[in-house]
Amino acid sequence: MDLYEHQARELFAEHGILVPWAEVTDSPKEAREIARRLGGRVVVKAQVKTGGRGKAGGVKLAADPAAAELTARQILGMDIKGHTVGRVMLAEPVDVEREFYVSYVLDRATGRFLAIASAQGGMEIEEVAARRPEAVARVPVDPAVGVTTARAAEIAEAAGLPPQTVDVLVRLWQVLVREDALLVEVNPLVRTARGRIVALDGKVTLDDNARFRQARWGSGDAGHEDPLEAAAAARGLNYVKLDGEVGVIGNGAGLVMSTLDVVAGCGARPANFLDIGGGASARTMADGLAVILSDPAVKSVLVNVFGGITACDAVAEGIVQALDTVRLTRPLVVRLDGNNAARGRALLEERAHPLIQQATTMDGAARRAAELADAA
Ligand code: GDP
Ligand code: MN
Repeated sequence: MDLYEHQARELFAEHGILVPWAEVTDSPKEAREIARRLGGRVVVKAQVKTGGRGKAGGVKLAADPAAAELTARQILGMDIKGHTVGRVMLAEPVDVEREFYVSYVLDRATGRFLAIASAQGGMEIEEVAARRPEAVARVPVDPAVGVTTARAAEIAEAAGLPPQTVDVLVRLWQVLVREDALLVEVNPLVRTARGRIVALDGKVTLDDNARFRQARWGSGDAGHEDPLEAAAAARGLNYVKLDGEVGVIGNGAGLVMSTLDVVAGCGARPANFLDIGGGASARTMADGLAVILSDPAVKSVLVNVFGGITACDAVAEGIVQALDTVRLTRPLVVRLDGNNAARGRALLEERAHPLIQQATTMDGAARRAAELADAA
């Protein structure tokens, strides 16, 4: 999960990295009040989870509270690379003398972290790397050792950063470790006219596998994410929206992924990925169906379950239960195999819903679901 700039800023501050005074709002009127509190002159910054806001007109200096209100009104609702601006951050302007780039990223190729740093900050690092690769230092970081003061000094030296940045490099590593982040990036990290090192922008990507101990961020983005993904997450389902027309429900990520392949092999496109997990209950199944059927793009649904810990009769019961609360408006093809499959199939036979069909093999089920989606 990516954090917003204002959330990254909060984390940096908690770990002792200097950041500008700032507040967030979704209201232009309140923007004026905040500007007044911050001393009048402020930088108004769009809060969207994408970079290049400055270039897109999402970062603007306002000279006084009235201008802050006007600028906030302009920026709120703006579209930046497909992201609608819902909130702005108002920040005390910083007197910038030099801009640097620093980040730590997980390098999956080597199974280590990489410090990337440059004395050419402010611009997009990809651009700097393309034009002047020698201006971007890449220093591996062993996660077992981390960024000690000595290592930080090496990073600063390699990138041509001033020695005052060493302390920030160490603290930024602590942000990554303690907050369970996969990426932390500061662009620009600046040196002010008075010689202080301040993080002017921040990007943090948290490791979703650690969400259970980073509860303060919740599911992250209430009201700003795909509504179906939010509904699924609220029910503890592993759901990803795709852009096809066959809804796919399975148990276990491996089975769901191969089901997506088989559906694609039948010439159809999966509408989603929904893994009800091992040991799924009737309730989970009912929740999963509810989520999928509320997607208007879905033309047919394929339920592919191989019962292990999950019993097929529980899955069948879940489907039957779901019929009480969700109106089945599109055909459902069910393939149950493994633990208690016979009992599961019998339950669905008994229910005899006209839109539910059963198949005995994964290929057969996928073919049928694809045909039904095509005919719809
Ligand atoms: P981005 O375009 O999404 O990366 O947004 P940034 O937060 O990095 O802002 C874009 C640029 O605006 C920065 O690279 C800075 O050069 C400039 N900027 C932002 N805040 C200030 C500030 O307080 N003072 C000065 N002088 N420049 C700022
Ligand atoms: Mn930036």
